[in-house]
Amino acid sequence: MPRVAKFQGGRAGATYTCHACGKQTRETGLEESGLDLCRKCLTMAYADNAHSDYGHKFERDGCPICRKIIAGYDAGQYPDHETGD
Ligand SMILES: [Zn+2]
Ligand SMILES: [Zn+2]
Repeated sequence: MPRVAKFQGGRAGATYTCHACGKQTRETGLEESGLDLCRKCLTMAYADNAHSDYGHKFERDGCPICRKIIAGYDAGQYPDHETGD
């Protein structure tokens, strides 16, 4: 019987370290292993994407771009902020 390599990305059951929070995690079917993220961080990444798609219209805790925009308001200028399509 041939040996199956266990450390291929996306293989169900294999654990890996989330590169965002550093926790040991595993694929739960959201294909988060392909991004080296745990389920929680992937969900947060999606939320961040949606947030930036809305052009940072609402302030999001911990978003560096929002912080920059707020800092820009304070400094009396609005920094270039491309959301990209
Ligand atoms: Zn994580
Ligand atoms: Zn933001």
